[in-house]
Amino acid sequence: MRIILTGFRGTGKTTAGEILAGRLGLPFLDTDRIIEGRAGKKIPAIFRERGEAGFRELERQVIASLPQDGVVVGTGGGAVLDPVNVERLRKGSLVFLLQAGEETIARRIGGSDRPSLTGKPPADEVGVLLRDRQPAYLRAADFCIGTERGPPAWAAGEVLRILEEGPTPALSRASGMKFIGQLPLREGDRAALSALLKGGEKGGLCAIAGYPCSHSRSPALWNGLFARYGLPYLYTSFEWPDIGELIQAVRDLGVRGLAVTIPFKETVIPHLDGVDPDARAIGAVNTVVQCGGVLRGFNTDWLGIRAPLEDRAGARAVVLGAGGAAAAAVYALRSLGMEVTILNRTPGKAAGLAERSGCRAAPLSSVRDLRPEVVVNATPVGMHPDRSSLLAAEDLREGMTVFDLVYTPPETPLLALARRAGCRVIPGTEMFIHQAREQFFHVTGIRVPGDIVRELV
Ligand code: NAP
Repeated sequence: MRIILTGFRGTGKTTAGEILAGRLGLPFLDTDRIIEGRAGKKIPAIFRERGEAGFRELERQVIASLPQDGVVVGTGGGAVLDPVNVERLRKGSLVFLLQAGEETIARRIGGSDRPSLTGKPPADEVGVLLRDRQPAYLRAADFCIGTERGPPAWAAGEVLRILEEGPTPALSRASGMKFIGQLPLREGDRAALSALLKGGEKGGLCAIAGYPCSHSRSPALWNGLFARYGLPYLYTSFEWPDIGELIQAVRDLGVRGLAVTIPFKETVIPHLDGVDPDARAIGAVNTVVQCGGVLRGFNTDWLGIRAPLEDRAGARAVVLGAGGAAAAAVYALRSLGMEVTILNRTPGKAAGLAERSGCRAAPLSSVRDLRPEVVVNATPVGMHPDRSSLLAAEDLREGMTVFDLVYTPPETPLLALARRAGCRVIPGTEMFIHQAREQFFHVTGIRVPGDIVRELV
């Protein structure tokens, strides 16, 4: 196992890392020092001669050459901005983010000879860079430690405590384990979970939360991705009817990443500590990431709908349905500059979503008159065992793009009709694949190519 310490300059990575390495009897490697050693120059001189791009290239090479095991590593403050570095650093490692507020950092690094990255005065630069980098820091970390609570020796002690006991206190973990005991898990999964929570295995926990959700393909996909990228994580399913109790267990167990599905995408929001602006605008969260006891919510459904339609920017579109998936679809299509009309069985719900999202609503029967270039089905119509389609063959024309968010079966009745009419068809598995890639990115900071997810799905 490797221990990686990341974070902004002035968070104590080097001092805490040296103390931690001493206590663990391991060597400590500081990527900035290795870069200076290899270049034979101090970092300000490297920046002067090669610019930031030259420095980042050296940093990538150093990170690629780090030992895979038995070492404590402190990284430069910008290292985890590059997802390729994150993928390399995370392999076989546990990553600890050391955090501190803007003023503390500015005080700690006052008088440093490091070059400016923004051209702003030092006091302003810290705030600008911190805000910019914060999402990448949070994505790349397994655990977060606030370093304002004690000196670097205290931070090193916190890392040791988390390694020995896990991220949450024993009492919280006991109530989390009681929750796990009530879940309908397969025996093999329960045993693996129990070994992880009792500290027999070092690593983190992720889960899908829903009711029902034990049929979900997410655990197989995520455990496949964890194995592929060498991440010491276990992904399980939390099938439970009460979202309040479920989120309490997520806190008690220090669950790192949670996929949220039906029926909790809206009701989870009041239980979180922060919600990203896209999720807030859609009104639904399907991804929760925890660091340092803080739960943040995101929505990746809309990105899963947006990605396969990126080449249709500005098109005339209709969305069938006015529920949660339709809200994400409307948001995605609007972000591509499409003119969107919502068609729904219950007209009042279509009108409500249209008003909230600044587009139009019309009756389902008007689809032919609207002559859409893009159609997104965000209703369950056509989902196995249903064999019906909301649109008829006469509604579909050559050149249209038809995206059915339903993914069982892969070829829905609507897609079969659309294919016969000469439309471009996009199956619902594409949404699942792209939203899962984005979810994995939020939880790990690693960018997985779509084909790898497609292969695992
Ligand atoms: P939801 O909130 O329950 O909304 C369902 C919508 O479908 C409502 O607008 C409803 O109309 C309409 N509808 C239901 N049955 C209908 C019928 N027989 N005829 C006409 N309209 C009907 O569900 P959701 O969360 O938005 O999910 C919708 C579908 O999207 C799911 O069934 C799933 O297949 C798909 N989905 C796919 C993915 C993926 O990764 N590919 C992810 C999420 C969802 P009313 O307003 O009249 O009730």
